Amino acid sequence: MKIIVQKFGGTSVADVSRMKSAAKRAIDVHTSGSKVIVVVSARGRMTDELLELAYEINDNPSTRELDMLLSTGEQMSSALMAMAIHSLGYPAVSFVGRQVGITTDSFHTKARIVDINADRIIEELSKNKIVVVAGYQGVDKNDNITTLGRGGSDTSAVALAALLKADICDIYTDVDGIYTADPRIVPKARKRNKISYDEILELASMGAQVVHVRAVEFAKKYNVPIQVRSSFNNDKGTLICKEVSEMENIVVSGATITKNEAKITIIGVPDKPGQAAKIFQELAKENINVDMIIQNISAHGLADVTFTVLKDDLPLALDTTERIKREIKAKEIVADDKIAKLSVVGIGMRTHCGIAEKMFCALSDEKINIQMISTSEIKISCVIEENQAEKALNAVHSAFELNKEE
Ligand code: ADP
Ligand code: ASP
Ligand code: MG
Repeated sequence: MKIIVQKFGGTSVADVSRMKSAAKRAIDVHTSGSKVIVVVSARGRMTDELLELAYEINDNPSTRELDMLLSTGEQMSSALMAMAIHSLGYPAVSFVGRQVGITTDSFHTKARIVDINADRIIEELSKNKIVVVAGYQGVDKNDNITTLGRGGSDTSAVALAALLKADICDIYTDVDGIYTADPRIVPKARKRNKISYDEILELASMGAQVVHVRAVEFAKKYNVPIQVRSSFNNDKGTLICKEVSEMENIVVSGATITKNEAKITIIGVPDKPGQAAKIFQELAKENINVDMIIQNISAHGLADVTFTVLKDDLPLALDTTERIKREIKAKEIVADDKIAKLSVVGIGMRTHCGIAEKMFCALSDEKINIQMISTSEIKISCVIEENQAEKALNAVHSAFELNKEE
């Protein structure tokens, strides 16, 4: 018997009629004889509204209490979804994460799933019920409610699909698949029929919010096929799956921008062994994630070290680098939070050359200055000025002719 996980994002359960059409999709699968688990997000802008409310009451809310609050959005959706299914005459039961044993670590607002005990889900499925689970949440070992980071309902769905060995995890959203770039920014972006785990992993980590990064990590590890599709039509969407040889022919499969990083430069670092180790050890001790790093050797035995961190971590990163500066006797710290990172991704990069050149030329033609560059086997990223991000994304999208057929 087939097992299918269906995840509905915020817009797909935003109001009564959408909730009912989502319920019908679950019922269709159920009546065809498959087992179905529905994972729901909070309705519409609910999570944003709850966050706004929290910050109105307290400008520095405790992350434990934030998780208590934010998890309620998904709880509400799950109960309403079960009621919608009942109203159409079918059996369903809703659960919050804690009730279906989704155990996480204790990093509130960005917890990671460590274990799931699916006994309760399996029991309800065996009673022929549609099981509805509130996404985005779990519980830590001390019985505190946790959330999985923004967009985390995808991860709940894929983790359940992995555990239950589901045949597919359908992610229903407000676009009809994964595009070569965010269609809200690049009007000419084109839908991909298939994309590999590695490509979407890079795209999602570099800013394409269409699927949660952790969800793809789970999917890749446990080989769960994901179909990203629209909740407004019956089109097939985009299949995220293992790499197949024909994918090698697609040199660049997508492009994306993120504005969630800031840049810090430590000027005048004495150019001797151990300095970089000292800087990045201290940042790591503060749990600050560093992304790109460059070092310029300047004259008189002094170097400049530039790196990027998440904007949310900037205040702590600046305090830490000020302290390091004094210890290593560097000269000055300069920060810039008006940057964007533009990335192009494709597994064909492993076997094709000239990709970086093409990207740099496209940016140069638009008079866009490149501040930092980093590459991986299947990705090239450039840091540019924030207000040029959208123009840069469109330019690169055209340069690689991503609007053309696969
Ligand atoms: P949901 O609430 O259903 O989880 P999200 O807002 O998290 O939906 O994700 C869907 C959005 O992701 C789309 O509306 C789209 O603007 C954005 N997006 C970003 N990059 C891409 C891409 N490459 N392909 C498709 N959508 C993308
Ligand atoms: N409701 C949460 C959010 O808005 C989780 C999700 O939708 O996946 O981020
Ligand atoms: Mg999402």
